[in-house]
Amino acid sequence: MAEGGARDTGRPLAPYAAHPASGRGRRYPEPATRYRGEYQRDRDRIVHSTAFRRLVYKTQVFVNHEGDLYRTRLTHSLEVAQIARTVARALDLNEALVEAISLAHDLGHTPFGHAGQDALNACMRDYGGFEHNLQSLRVVDELEAKYADFPGLNLTFETREGILKHCSTRNARELGDVGERFLSRRQPGLEAQLANIADAIAYNNHDVDDGIRAGLLTAEQLAAEPLFEAQYSEVRRLYPDIEDRRFVYEIIRRMINYVVTDLIETTRGRLETLAPDSIEDIRAHDQVIVAFSDDVHAQHVALKRFLMKNLYKHARVTEMTEQARDMVQVLFRSYMDDAGRLPREFATRARAGGEAERARVVADYIAGMTDRFAIKEHERLG
Ligand code: MG
Repeated sequence: MAEGGARDTGRPLAPYAAHPASGRGRRYPEPATRYRGEYQRDRDRIVHSTAFRRLVYKTQVFVNHEGDLYRTRLTHSLEVAQIARTVARALDLNEALVEAISLAHDLGHTPFGHAGQDALNACMRDYGGFEHNLQSLRVVDELEAKYADFPGLNLTFETREGILKHCSTRNARELGDVGERFLSRRQPGLEAQLANIADAIAYNNHDVDDGIRAGLLTAEQLAAEPLFEAQYSEVRRLYPDIEDRRFVYEIIRRMINYVVTDLIETTRGRLETLAPDSIEDIRAHDQVIVAFSDDVHAQHVALKRFLMKNLYKHARVTEMTEQARDMVQVLFRSYMDDAGRLPREFATRARAGGEAERARVVADYIAGMTDRFAIKEHERLG
C-alpha cells in the first residue's frame, strides 16, 4: 500500500506523522502517480539528481583523496537515512519522508567540507553570504535542471521543510512558505526533527571510527568520554582478546544502538504525554519533540565537543582545510574576473545580471564541485 496506509510493520502511521494526503503539496502541482506515494517520489528524485551523485566525491571530514575507507558526504547521508528510518519505523512516522530529507540534507555542501563552506562564505560576504544548508534547499528548488515543466526537483513542502534546518530572519522572509516557521518560531514536523538528530548521531559515531582509522584519535583517549567509556569497558570485559579494528567497531555499533534506543524511548514518552493529534500540533509546539533523555543528551554533546577539539581541529585536518580555503578563494576570484572561464550556461547567467548576481552564479558553480574537480580546476586556472 501507499505511505498513508498499513506498512510492513503491520501498523498504520501515527496521527502526528506526515500524511501525504494532508501534505501542503508541491510548488508546481503535479498529478499523483499510480504506484508511488508523494514522499517516495521525492526520495527517488533526490537519488536521481546530479547533486546526489556528486556527494560521493565530497569531503565529510577527510578530503576525498586521502583514503578510500573514510566517509564521504554520500556514505554519511546513507548512514543518516538508515538511522532515521529505524527511528521512524519504531515511532510509526513516515519512513519515506525521513529518508528523502536525510538523503537531501547535505546536497548544498561545497567541496572540502566546512573549510570550503567557510571560504565560500567569506568570498560571498558582500553578496549575501553562503550557507550550505540554505544551498541544499536551493539545489532542490532551483539548481537541478531536470524537468521540462519546472525548475529544480519540485519536492513536497514537507521534504523542503526538513531540508531547511536553520535560517536567518532575512533569508526566511525571502523564502516564503518554508521560511515562515523561522519568523513565527514554530517547529517542523517530526520527520524533519528526526533527520536532524540522526545527522548528529551519524557523524558523532562515524567520525570516531574515521578518526581512529586515521590515527588521529585512540580508543584510550576516547575512554575519557562517558558515552564511549561505557561500551569500551563492556566490550573489553566480554572480549578481552579481540583485535583492535573489531574492538573499535564493536564499541561504535553499541554506541549507536544505545543512543538510538534512548532517542526512540524518550521521544515515545514525550509523544504519549503530549498526545498530539496531527502534524500541525507538532508544528505549533514550542519545543523539539524528537530528543534524547537529558543524560544521553549531555553525553552526546560532550562527545561532539571532544571531536571538535581533538579531530576537527587536529593539525593534520586543519592543514588540509587551509589548502582548501586557498583553492576556493582562487577559483572565486578567477570566475569573478572572467565569466568566460565558467561553462557556457553558467557564463550566460553570470553575464545577465549585476555583480551580486554574478557572485551568486559563481558560488553555485563552486558549491556544486566535487573535491577532485575543484583541485583540477584550480590547477587549470591558478
Ligand atoms: Mg550531515
